[in-house]
Amino acid sequence: MNLQKKILISFLIMILTPCIIIGILGFIATGIGIHGFRTGNNDTIAIITQPIHALTELTQTEYNELSSSVVRFPDRMDNEKWLSEMNKRLKTKFSYIVVVKDEKEIFVGDMDEYDKVRTAVLTGIASRGAAFDGAVYVNGEQPVLVKHGNVYFSDGSEGYFLIVTEATTLFKRMTRSFATGVIIGAVLVAIMAAALIAWINDSIFKPLEKLRIGTREIGAGNLNYKLSREQNDEIGQLCNDFEEMRRHLKTQIDQREQYEQDVREMISNVSHDLKTPLTAIKGYAEGLLDGVADNKERQDKYLRTIVVKATDMTLLVDELSYYSKLDNNKLPYNFEKVNAVGYFGDCAESYANELEMKDFTVKFISEIDPETVVSIDCEQIRRVMNNLIGNSVKYRNTEVHGKIDIKLTDSGDSVRISVSDNGIGISKEAQPHIFERFYRADKSRTSGRAGTGIGLAIVDKIIKEHKGRVFVKSELGKGTTISFTVKKGAQQTNG
Ligand code: ADP
Repeated sequence: MNLQKKILISFLIMILTPCIIIGILGFIATGIGIHGFRTGNNDTIAIITQPIHALTELTQTEYNELSSSVVRFPDRMDNEKWLSEMNKRLKTKFSYIVVVKDEKEIFVGDMDEYDKVRTAVLTGIASRGAAFDGAVYVNGEQPVLVKHGNVYFSDGSEGYFLIVTEATTLFKRMTRSFATGVIIGAVLVAIMAAALIAWINDSIFKPLEKLRIGTREIGAGNLNYKLSREQNDEIGQLCNDFEEMRRHLKTQIDQREQYEQDVREMISNVSHDLKTPLTAIKGYAEGLLDGVADNKERQDKYLRTIVVKATDMTLLVDELSYYSKLDNNKLPYNFEKVNAVGYFGDCAESYANELEMKDFTVKFISEIDPETVVSIDCEQIRRVMNNLIGNSVKYRNTEVHGKIDIKLTDSGDSVRISVSDNGIGISKEAQPHIFERFYRADKSRTSGRAGTGIGLAIVDKIIKEHKGRVFVKSELGKGTTISFTVKKGAQQTNG
């Protein structure tokens, strides 16, 4: 449930609660009727708005019965048993009967009470001026409502009956019931308020507190403080977004840390890779200076070794500076439409010639239409090929004759170029990482093969700029195939 709905429900509860309380009060007041206060028209509100009228209505049934008995069964006014029965009924309504015959009280339903009010009642009846609805309300220390009816006894004597209703007791009872209602109402309001507060607290303040702690933790650099989404409203959404932000930040920081770690590792690798040829150059140069190379042939050998080692170092430094330019997007791309078979065929031929003396056979296989045109930056793709062929040479299996196949296959709107070798292969665990910068499968660097771990990262970046993809397939001890795709025909823009 969203916050909007929760707040709407809270407001509805706040509006409905008083209505419910009024209803409960009404019910309790009706309860008065159940306990014998039922008025003639059973109108609860009337008890509160017109108490005298309600009081009159209270005993109206008994009054009517008595009045009709007076006419139809005058004997009943002498009959104590019948009068006692009637009095019992009236007692439940805080009333009693008084029957007077020839100025003498022959039946008094509640003598104790009547004694207290007799004088006032008799004066009231005598005055009759305050008569209301056939009854007299006698005010005083103990207010009563008195209904009066004339009686003509069967023996010819005259008299009257009274129904006396104790107003105070009734009103006290009503006040007590009203107070009970108010207390129950107040308790209900308190319970509802507590429930509402708990609800709002659980759904707003607790998550906000969690968010506050989360923000503080992140501010203090603890990016492992997780915020779970526990509710499906705006606050839940906020927690979710917060969690997203935390994960994003953590990923970025982890990546940065990883990058820094990689750079540290790379610096150490590069310094190692530079140190080896430098030591060799120094050794050979000293050999020449000290006259160790005493004949022309030996001197030439020393000098050639120095040139080879210096070239290795140049390549290494060149690769590093190239990657740095690529990484900073400082290298412009110049896409051209070239014939794929022509371009890659020429590449293969030059490698074949170059590597023949290194005991390698380079084969070119084309399975595409000879007219296929690809859109490439020739210089960058040449570097891709150099890196792939360079790796095939670097990671060769020295026990067998080296074989490198360069193969072109059709791949829909692209051409796929695969470079396969029969070298040492790459382990399954290392394969997903070889395109990451500074990654080297041979971490221990025991093989003595020079490398920065950025050759394939360069390949990956260049091919991505060509909107192509790079794949690896390799088996340890058998060989490796690294392939990439480039788009056919259509001119591409600089990325
Ligand atoms: P490096 O400068 O170390 O050669 P690369 O990015 O070119 O860096 O290659 C990453 C890693 O992938 C290498 O260290 C090597 O372990 C592995 N690798 C790449 N090409 C081959 C291959 N043809 N045969 C075996 N291993 C390879």
